[in-house]
Amino acid sequence: MAMKTVVALPGEGIGPEVVDATCDLLMGTGLPLKILTPPQGAPLPEETKRAAREADGVLFGAAGPSTSPVVSWLRWEMAAWAGVRPIRFLPGMRSPLADPDGIDYVLLRENSEGLYPGREGDLADLVRLMPNLHDRTGRTVKEFGTDGRFAVKVVTPRGAERIARFACDLARRRQARGKPGKITCVTKSNVLPRTDGLYDEIVGRVVREAGLTFEHFHVDDAARRLVRFPKAMDVVLCMNLYGDILSDLGAETAGGLGLAPSANFGDNWAYFESVHGSAPDIAGKGIANPTATILSAALMLEHMGLPAEAQRLEAAVARVYRDGKVLTPDQGGSARTRDMAQAVLAAYR
Ligand code: ATP
Repeated sequence: MAMKTVVALPGEGIGPEVVDATCDLLMGTGLPLKILTPPQGAPLPEETKRAAREADGVLFGAAGPSTSPVVSWLRWEMAAWAGVRPIRFLPGMRSPLADPDGIDYVLLRENSEGLYPGREGDLADLVRLMPNLHDRTGRTVKEFGTDGRFAVKVVTPRGAERIARFACDLARRRQARGKPGKITCVTKSNVLPRTDGLYDEIVGRVVREAGLTFEHFHVDDAARRLVRFPKAMDVVLCMNLYGDILSDLGAETAGGLGLAPSANFGDNWAYFESVHGSAPDIAGKGIANPTATILSAALMLEHMGLPAEAQRLEAAVARVYRDGKVLTPDQGGSARTRDMAQAVLAAYR
């Protein structure tokens, strides 16, 4: 097997703890991996960007205030427009739901449009430029006065169509494994008929043309359904902000934020990271759950052309949860980050 290069960027907070534990685990598997850890810094150094662009896989830890430029580059500047966030319960995971067995869906977050990464300004400027911009009751922006701020939400047919096609590919791949081939589109098109409505309409068209099942829920209803009927979900396609919020909710239903991985894809670009952030409340204590990062690494291995190894790593994680002996405190255990990662390695072997 040819040597593959991985760039590991720990971020901050619990990021370095979970990334180090995961990298040690990866090295312990005996896979032909070379793991590079180029400097982070703000702005992100050119040598780091080059190393990440040239690597076979990029694994990120967790962003916080001083490492937000890292994730800003990985996600926004490199235009990783598709955020794939699997929500899967495995026996032994600590779900707050009474009957979580069988939760297995993918929350797909549109990563490049909507309200992110934040286009804001002063209301005074908006009032000056677009004095007649009005809401659906006819009230113009002028009526708010000029003391305040605004944010801009963007939806383009191109952005909606490409994420819809991505969702269809994902649903078809899952269908081959017995899943229903359904895409649940999440918007708030009753309040935002022009922006969210456009998204809703385009996703519906693309999904129906692909011969897959389409359903749509407004984001408030979707939140309720992800708690009440999570097993009815297959691919849940969310606009950017809704996906950010609902993926934390979905992660909790399947056992917790410390367990949820993600893969982020752009055009000829991908990077992998946990859904959670830097968790300052537990940083430095060595008790963060490494599962989200380990499962992100499994998604990375699959992307690097090592699908059997990726499956084997996921199976090793499943076994550690099934055994229930080496779990971190968030899962009711007393293991440390490193012990849990090493238990996964033992199960992998
Ligand atoms: P961000 O806005 O940066 O995504 P967040 O507000 O979602 O961050 P996180 O830092 O991701 O917050 O985590 C919220 C809480 O969940 C943490 O404070 C911590 O208690 C818990 N948590 C997150 N990740 C883990 C983990 N890997 N192991 C254990 N607990 C975790």
